Amino acid sequence: LTALEQYDPQICELIKQEKARQAGCIRMIPSENYVSKAVMTATGSCLTNKYAEGYPGKRYYEGQQITDLIEDIARQRAVKVFGSDHANVQPYSGSIANMAAYMALVKPGETIMGLSLPDGGHLTHGWKVSATGKLFNSVQYTVNPETGRFDYDQIAELAKKNKPKIIISGATAYTREIDFKAFSEIAKSVGAYLISDIAHIAGLVVGGVHQSPVPYADIVSTTTHKTLRGPRGGMLLCKDEHKIAVDRAVFPGMQGGPHLHTITALAVALAEADTPEFKLYAKQVVSNAGVLAEKLMEYGFELVSGGTDNHLILIDMRNKGIPGKKMAKALDRAGIVTNCNTVPADPAPPFNPSGVRIGTPAVTTRGMKEEQMIEIAKLYKEVAENIDDTETIEKIGKKVKLLCSEFPIPDHFIVS
Ligand code: PLP
Repeated sequence: LTALEQYDPQICELIKQEKARQAGCIRMIPSENYVSKAVMTATGSCLTNKYAEGYPGKRYYEGQQITDLIEDIARQRAVKVFGSDHANVQPYSGSIANMAAYMALVKPGETIMGLSLPDGGHLTHGWKVSATGKLFNSVQYTVNPETGRFDYDQIAELAKKNKPKIIISGATAYTREIDFKAFSEIAKSVGAYLISDIAHIAGLVVGGVHQSPVPYADIVSTTTHKTLRGPRGGMLLCKDEHKIAVDRAVFPGMQGGPHLHTITALAVALAEADTPEFKLYAKQVVSNAGVLAEKLMEYGFELVSGGTDNHLILIDMRNKGIPGKKMAKALDRAGIVTNCNTVPADPAPPFNPSGVRIGTPAVTTRGMKEEQMIEIAKLYKEVAENIDDTETIEKIGKKVKLLCSEFPIPDHFIVS
């Protein structure tokens, strides 16, 4: 940071503070992680200086001797780890990747069908305030409010009634394994395309602890920075038959110049993901979430769907009489960072919902295991029991700091 220290001490100081914050708290927002030093180095490399509109071999700017090689490596690595025919590594984010996937297959005004936001879907799955809900005729399915799980028969019924051109399978707050085969059968039965958004679970798919949608979906969309542990970005994987449409939808359809520094870092992250260590990491993420869920339930927390199959847990705080936001704020004061979230059929408003969404990707990257999950569950219990007691919350914060000091952020990822 020497140049930064010298030329922009104000921003430099804030970066240092954010680094310390990330090291000194238990980060349990399920979409967050820590990238390796190698990924961080690539993200901050000179590739940020290069414009490269187009695709390798077909660019609109010169000077692509190196960028073509890098983007090709990133694409090849993506194809290898996910087993897809084709990869487009240019989307700036998961949101843009989703929009590009829709534009590749249908026209504005046509019908798309995704999971509703309060039930765990993403904004870009057709929620009304998102462009995806405005440009397309959006139909939304829900989870069964009793079970917190998909009711595939109900989804099939809704598809039959509305005849969507695209069905989106994927979620931002769903705690159970998604049956992509069932979704593909529903899509086929109504002549719809299937787009699977694996933004949250991409790392679990690569690690072999969640089924892959690649054999079933026309297009797979993902972010690169959650369980996959790469730089912030998006990616599309598809069958050969959609390759041209997907590439055109990303550029020039949605974007201009690709962020080559991100693509470079993604290539590094994909190499990291293609290792036995990453498989162990993914397995540990799921095992940690399972233990944490069990312990939380022992302490009387109610979990949507009664547990978890993946990296994510949704706590319904209603039986504790504590709003989700109040719980998330109290946890934050203790140094445990989560986010408040709606629960299925939530009677509370989205800005102050009934649930808290937590996940294990980041703590697992720090090397925490089942033993620490038991400790963390106890901290949740203590926070809930002392929600208005500032002194006790401070004391819990000391325990959090101690735990963090025992698990420093690693440079590389070794799960032993
Ligand atoms: N899809 C899902 C399922 C997500 O959870 C998210 C992000 O939370 C996105 C898409 C959007 O990704 P981004 O924030 O990179 O636009």
